[in-house]
Amino acid sequence: MAKHKITAIPSIRRLPSYLHIIRQSREEGQEYISGTVIAQELHLEPIQVRKDLAITGIVGKPKKGYPVVALMAAIEHFLGWDEIQQAVLIGAGNLGTALAGYQEFHYHGLHICAAFDRDTSKIGTSIHGVPVFSLETLPIQIRNLKATIAILTVPSSNAQEITDILVGAGISAIWNFTNVKLKVPETVVVQKEDLTSGYAMLCVMMNASRHE
Ligand code: NAD
Repeated sequence: MAKHKITAIPSIRRLPSYLHIIRQSREEGQEYISGTVIAQELHLEPIQVRKDLAITGIVGKPKKGYPVVALMAAIEHFLGWDEIQQAVLIGAGNLGTALAGYQEFHYHGLHICAAFDRDTSKIGTSIHGVPVFSLETLPIQIRNLKATIAILTVPSSNAQEITDILVGAGISAIWNFTNVKLKVPETVVVQKEDLTSGYAMLCVMMNASRHE
């Protein structure tokens, strides 16, 4: 199977912030929310918000806006967040532990069901309630737990070796927090995260505002 070409990446990246605002408005008891209100909250143009929401297939009502419950459902369905995904975490260190404890994933259908580490002092313990297993049991556990996603938080030097094991065990997706550009077959999708690129943006914006 060839990898899907994902279009509208900036729109997809904005949808979770929209969802956050829409969820708040539902908690406040509102039935409808307008694209303009969402845009004001996020300092965006209303036309941008309406275009982004259109990719989910939802249609707003003139003067009223979008029905809140249906809008949340449409975004969650588009993102695939209305289905529970079982995930395994490889590397129960600082970052892995922080991710295991991030409660927000629960709202997005991401369930971290097991962690794996090669450090024997961690095996048999748990991080935020997630049990830590020996790396040797990884392939069998992936199959037993029906895990589709692996969250990779091992040192970069071990990233490819672990990836090869994950691929062999039939994982479908890797959320890669290491610095390595992983080699995977076409059937496996990889999303690489890098906090330093966000920090680079912050620094450049700080410098630009100093020189204004
Ligand atoms: P850490 O040393 O605290 O944790 C690494 C864990 O991996 C340890 O528990 C270690 O025992 C385990 N480990 C090592 N080799 C292993 C192997 N072959 N199999 C299974 N487990 C193994 O490190 P950290 O600070 O949590 O960072 C982890 C990774 O995340 C690093 O690659 C780091 O560069 C990366 N990181 C990325 C970002 C980002 O923005 N993407 C931010 C912080 C850290």
